[in-house]
Amino acid sequence: MLEESLATVLGSRTSGSLAKLGLMTVEDLLRHYPRRYGIPGELTDMGALRLGEHVTVMAEVRSTTVRPMRSRGGAMLEAIVTDGRDTLQLTFFAKRTGVLRMHEDKLRAGRTGLFTGTVGDYRGRRQLVHPDYLIVGLDAADAEEATIEASRPIPIYPAAASVPTWRIGRSVRTVLDPLTEADVPDPIPQPLRDLHRLPTLLEALRGVHVPDDLDHVKRSQHRLKYEEALVLQTALARRRADRESHSAVPRAAAGGGLLEAFDARVPFPLTQGQIEVGREISADLERATPMLRLLQGDVGAGKTVVALRAMLAVVDAGGQAALLAPTEVLAAQHERTLRDLLGPLADGGTLGGADGATRVALLTGSQGAARKRQALADAASGAAGIVVGTHALLSDTVQFADLGLVVVDEQHRFGVEQRDQLRARGTSVPHTLVMTATPIPRTVAMTVFGDLETSVLTERPAGRAETVTHVVPADNSAWMSRIWQRMREEIDAGRRAYVVCPRIEGDQPEDDAEPDPVDEDPRALEAGEEPAAAARPPLEAVVDVAERLRHLPALEGIGIGEMHGRLTGEQKDAAMAAFVDGATPILVSTTVIEVGVDVPQASTMVVLDAEHFGISQLHQLRGRVGRASEPGLCLLVTHAQEGTPSLERLTAVASTSDGFALAEKDLELRREGDVLGAAQSGGRNSLRLLRVLRDADVLGVARDDARGLVDRDPTLAQSPALAQAIAVWLGEREEFLERT
Ligand code: ADP
Ligand code: MG
Repeated sequence: MLEESLATVLGSRTSGSLAKLGLMTVEDLLRHYPRRYGIPGELTDMGALRLGEHVTVMAEVRSTTVRPMRSRGGAMLEAIVTDGRDTLQLTFFAKRTGVLRMHEDKLRAGRTGLFTGTVGDYRGRRQLVHPDYLIVGLDAADAEEATIEASRPIPIYPAAASVPTWRIGRSVRTVLDPLTEADVPDPIPQPLRDLHRLPTLLEALRGVHVPDDLDHVKRSQHRLKYEEALVLQTALARRRADRESHSAVPRAAAGGGLLEAFDARVPFPLTQGQIEVGREISADLERATPMLRLLQGDVGAGKTVVALRAMLAVVDAGGQAALLAPTEVLAAQHERTLRDLLGPLADGGTLGGADGATRVALLTGSQGAARKRQALADAASGAAGIVVGTHALLSDTVQFADLGLVVVDEQHRFGVEQRDQLRARGTSVPHTLVMTATPIPRTVAMTVFGDLETSVLTERPAGRAETVTHVVPADNSAWMSRIWQRMREEIDAGRRAYVVCPRIEGDQPEDDAEPDPVDEDPRALEAGEEPAAAARPPLEAVVDVAERLRHLPALEGIGIGEMHGRLTGEQKDAAMAAFVDGATPILVSTTVIEVGVDVPQASTMVVLDAEHFGISQLHQLRGRVGRASEPGLCLLVTHAQEGTPSLERLTAVASTSDGFALAEKDLELRREGDVLGAAQSGGRNSLRLLRVLRDADVLGVARDDARGLVDRDPTLAQSPALAQAIAVWLGEREEFLERT
């Protein structure tokens, strides 16, 4: 019934225009919820109408006149409608007056209607030419019904120019009116419906499409929201249950091993948070079901040490650990960091190695054949307790002797597919620790990572100075020259500076070989949507900026390096090395340095065209400086104008260094659709009503309900409609979950 095609039910003409809105089946149409409601009696404020705007207004007809047009021939109808104060003219043209009589008959003075069209102007008067309209109560069968109809809120649908809202409304009525409860299976199981006193799906659909009053709308919307949350959370609960049903090898750290040796040699005291999270992780590792834990910690919170301690525990228990980084640069850096932290503990099999030492192997696509062969052999034999690489490590060609733990750093690109890939590796599944430095607001975490356990590192290691951030207007040349002077002072004092640009080369579009967040992150593109952006100069590019800086008197004699995704792995390594050792203490770069790069001497960062980047991206970027005891300085150079959302974003970043606070702000400023990507962009089975930020309560309740449901009935045999809804949801959602 619900799957029936609209063409069968409504005929090809109507269904054809509905198809333009992506509505193909009866269910599609019924799930096309009104965006808002017109309230008869509450007339639209005409004073607020803006020229060129496509509007739907509720107004009362004041007068209608039909007259011939002497100059052009033909006839025209002019109706004046009003909100009681201002007026709007409706204009219709026709060859002969006859056609206009039909409109005249409907547009009688005193009647109320909804009128849709684009606001135009004729001799200083606001008008709609050939508006579509609906006169309240006119289609009713009798006077009584007319009274009822006239008092109902009128649904206003997300419409298109080709399909006015009431054509949609009428179609909805045609398919909705004859439906009975038996036709509409309810994804919410009855016990939950009873528990929360929710209407059935059919009742709720009536409530949003043909409401008695606004309260009816609200109750129905609430139910539909809960349904969305329940479907989502049940899918996640099932994923979780599925994971619990797999077995993993318990990895209880044997005392007296590498972990203890490491703790004895680590050059700083661990923070309380690092210790606590360490305990949570060891408890997980000792279980016979695979761990799937998300470790959130702000930039610089010290996640690497936490990960290393977990890996050492697994090595002590006789297994191996893999550390996956999002880019080769980061993988190489992780390997160096781990070696430094481990010292002789990483020199297994060599003369200088400590007792019981292991090996750290690095595997990247761009490394030489000989090194790669050695690394592959060490992974396969088990000689390497820790293997570092990119996600390619999970491919079939890399053999491990006994992989016990996978650590995924910077989870941006760790989607469902990767999670499943891990699961597919033989009978026992490795424990998994996912680390992210992009703090995720609780509700989003609940939505996107609802199947993961989470730990949070809140404090930052002591003794690290804060980074100070300022917004700098790009057209202020005095400021700009001061920036380069300041940079020279920093370099002369032995420090390093980054200059970040949104593009690689000025005359070419950005196409980083590395997965560059500028391309993928919809937030980064927001700025481009502001009309002001069109008129400004092209975005700054690494190659051009580096060239410019080389000729700047203020920076004379200072080596300037370049870093971007189009360099080969070797070139990147060389550029990083030259930056670290001071040959090129200024590094002009794209966002490839965004995550994880740890150069303690780096004190200054200048971000050019900063408005081009999203909040969390900027926060990540500035995390690259101020990593030693010296305070860092981050300058956000921008063309963004006062009062624009872009500038508001930059000001937010400058005003706090709390990543979690920024994540909330980010969510607030961004359109909801960007938060969850495709899930909320209005695709057929997207989250339609649920809003992650506002509906935290609904999400929480649904999560508990979903877990209970799956505990009692893992296959959902007793809730076929829910199982079906999940299947549909997953089909379309898999893609979205993968992108997160
Ligand atoms: P992130 O959480 O951003 O990945 P890192 O793990 O890279 O942070 O740590 C940032 C820096 O802080 C590193 O140089 C690391 O050695 C240092 N660090 C980590 N833990 C501590 C600690 N407990 N005390 C002092 N410094 C620490
Ligand atoms: Mg890190």
